[in-house]
Amino acid sequence: MFVVFLGTGSALPSVDRANTSLALVATTGAGITLIDCGGDPFRQLLRAGLDPRRVTDIIITHAHIDHIGGLPSLIESFRIIGRTDPLHVYAIAHPFQVARDLLRTYAFELTLHHWPFAVELHELQPGTNATIGDFTVTPIAADHTVPSIGLRAVPTATPAGPIFAYTCDTRVAPMIPTIARDADLFVAEATYPHGQNDAAAQVGHMTTSQAGEMAHAGAARALALVHLSAGYAQEGQVRREARMTYRGPVIVPRDLSIVRVARRARLIRRMG
Ligand SMILES: [Zn+2]
Ligand SMILES: [Zn+2]
Repeated sequence: MFVVFLGTGSALPSVDRANTSLALVATTGAGITLIDCGGDPFRQLLRAGLDPRRVTDIIITHAHIDHIGGLPSLIESFRIIGRTDPLHVYAIAHPFQVARDLLRTYAFELTLHHWPFAVELHELQPGTNATIGDFTVTPIAADHTVPSIGLRAVPTATPAGPIFAYTCDTRVAPMIPTIARDADLFVAEATYPHGQNDAAAQVGHMTTSQAGEMAHAGAARALALVHLSAGYAQEGQVRREARMTYRGPVIVPRDLSIVRVARRARLIRRMG
């Protein structure tokens, strides 16, 4: 399986980094499952060389604007290109409500009869597996400022792995190593630089070295760092700080980077 980093930045986008969102692809040519939908996901898919028509499912981890704000514009872009397949959106109760309100605000429900595709919302329960696109997904409650989930995903066709894991936005918490457990690729948020533990915890985030600690505690096989803040996100610094606490391979993806998730997770493309 592959993960395409559509965005790798924090809530404030920069020239180099869009809001963090990821695309999971089980194998070449298969459907695309998006994780989060901030910024301008349609354009990021195009820039990544992915056909947006292949998006079957979207998981919204939480209701912060940098993770859900792009949903209406993505749906509108799908309408314009003549999508006919239903689009499935998955979220736990809180972001589920926000997604429903967003769709109502834009009156999608009133105009759906003009549309050639349906938008179907599905509620996730933390701890309960769900089949989403080509993946079996385990949502796990994280510890953020609003209800939020991290997740583990394996291709449904190969239940023995590889294992993809993602913290989403969270502060350090006991369940984070559970998310990371034995993952072939553990994607962790690292909004703050090393040493700013208090500032990070106050706003429900982690530092680079804390992300490394979580990867170490969960015995993850490789670590990738996202949700990086403009101003400190120099790749060398981020990697060095994560390596203070984690000895495995550390990837600092740029937007549109692709990582192959396998026993030895490998960066196969880095843009820019
Ligand atoms: Zn965020
Ligand atoms: Zn957030």
